[in-house]
Amino acid sequence: MADHWFIILISMLCVAAAELERFELPAKGDGSLSFLVIGDWGRRGAFNQSQVAFQMGKIGEKLDIDFVVSTGDNFYDNGLSGPQDPVFEQSFTNIYTANSLQKRWFSGKLPFLLHILNWLTGHLLGNHDYRGDAEAQLSHLLRKIDSRWLCLRSFIVDAEHAEIIFVDTTPFVKSYFLDPEDHTYDWRGIHPSKHYVTNLLKDVERALRESRAKWKIVVGHHAIRSIGHHGDTPELATHLFPILKANGVDFYMNGHDHCLEHISDTESPIQFLTSGAGSKAWRGDVKRVNRKGLKFFYDGQGFLSVKLTPPDAEIVFYDVYGKILHTWNATKQFI
Ligand SMILES: [Zn+2]
Repeated sequence: MADHWFIILISMLCVAAAELERFELPAKGDGSLSFLVIGDWGRRGAFNQSQVAFQMGKIGEKLDIDFVVSTGDNFYDNGLSGPQDPVFEQSFTNIYTANSLQKRWFSGKLPFLLHILNWLTGHLLGNHDYRGDAEAQLSHLLRKIDSRWLCLRSFIVDAEHAEIIFVDTTPFVKSYFLDPEDHTYDWRGIHPSKHYVTNLLKDVERALRESRAKWKIVVGHHAIRSIGHHGDTPELATHLFPILKANGVDFYMNGHDHCLEHISDTESPIQFLTSGAGSKAWRGDVKRVNRKGLKFFYDGQGFLSVKLTPPDAEIVFYDVYGKILHTWNATKQFI
């Protein structure tokens, strides 16, 4: 009996001590950090995916980006069938070919502690990724095919003055479990989802609370707020959003809705930024809902860039021609 309780206690401690995996990345010499954000992209180059990739290469070079963030739905329609699925190369390796989008190795002060990244992707398996072999996207075998690929469900990138927390939002959405229609989801490692989501929220809350970063960014696949086809995600608005608000998050970035969008929260400094236009765009599919705080909405293809220094942030949205559609600047005063 005593052994039994000892085991339970140990496992509870393990749960309590669980932490999101952390990757450290030094800012550039001038203290700046730049990256691109792209979502909902993998269609073997079709639906202007290749054109968006081409413009990402140009903007990436101009901004001397440190990495690329994917907001999920990496491979359509049903994720990857396995680690050998040729779709991985057809929709990723062979598409994002520009020099600025290639892996770049930085030398750090503590190189043995640093995982240096240029392309952070897969992390947020989108709902379409969960319809295939979700674990294939997490497999190290993909990194052997293309070493830019880093794929985790939830993790943290600590880039000195900015911290980016990636949250696996698909398991939050109840309808995928209750009414999957004719789709089959790969929930290995997720069941029971309530337990998974509760622990994830605790990890996110603790990471944000302990963060000393000047800029706090959270990335998910689903929108907290959006006027696009899918609209708001009530599960995130109820469970995740209060944590972001209470812990001084600056930006929540997502994909899922195939558009580019910027909504300012009216009760906190949080900016909701949707970048889900990496290939097929909604084109005219807009909800007639609450538009409070809406700054920008574009239902064609494109992506966004982020440039951060300790006091300043600049967000820029681009279309498929690389034309600037919308810019947002923010400055923080620090004591
Ligand atoms: Zn999606």
